[in-house]
Amino acid sequence: MSFSKTPSVGGHIDANCTRCRMLTNHTIVALVAERPVKVQCNTCGGMHGYRAPKAAPQPRATSSRPPSDKPKARTQSADQEHWQRVMAERDAAGARAYAMDQPFRVDELVRHPQFGVGLVTAIFKPNKMEVLFEQGRKTLRCRL
Ligand SMILES: [Zn+2]
Repeated sequence: MSFSKTPSVGGHIDANCTRCRMLTNHTIVALVAERPVKVQCNTCGGMHGYRAPKAAPQPRATSSRPPSDKPKARTQSADQEHWQRVMAERDAAGARAYAMDQPFRVDELVRHPQFGVGLVTAIFKPNKMEVLFEQGRKTLRCRL
């Protein structure tokens, strides 16, 4: 048995020990294609896969997940469907222009300069109403 640079089972090799967390002398336990794949640490006796001494430190997995998108509005799709159904059934041309000093009734169509045509779904005393617009429900001022 000649001593060559080729590692052999039972030979010694320096390796990073996973348990000692340092470069220690190891005994080669298994070879694949003349490369040590399994070694036993002579310091702690632990057996582990061979890690080359010069191996770069393991890149730290940066847990910088991109911030998740804004969660979808809970009831947006249902509201949108509702709104589309209302717009299909009702005549949006008959919607009354919204004004905060005007009284509105539930189930009335309102035309808002910013949100478009909406359906009054609820009235809250003393001066608020909920209107379902295409982009969702809004609480607007009104007169009762
Ligand atoms: Zn060790």
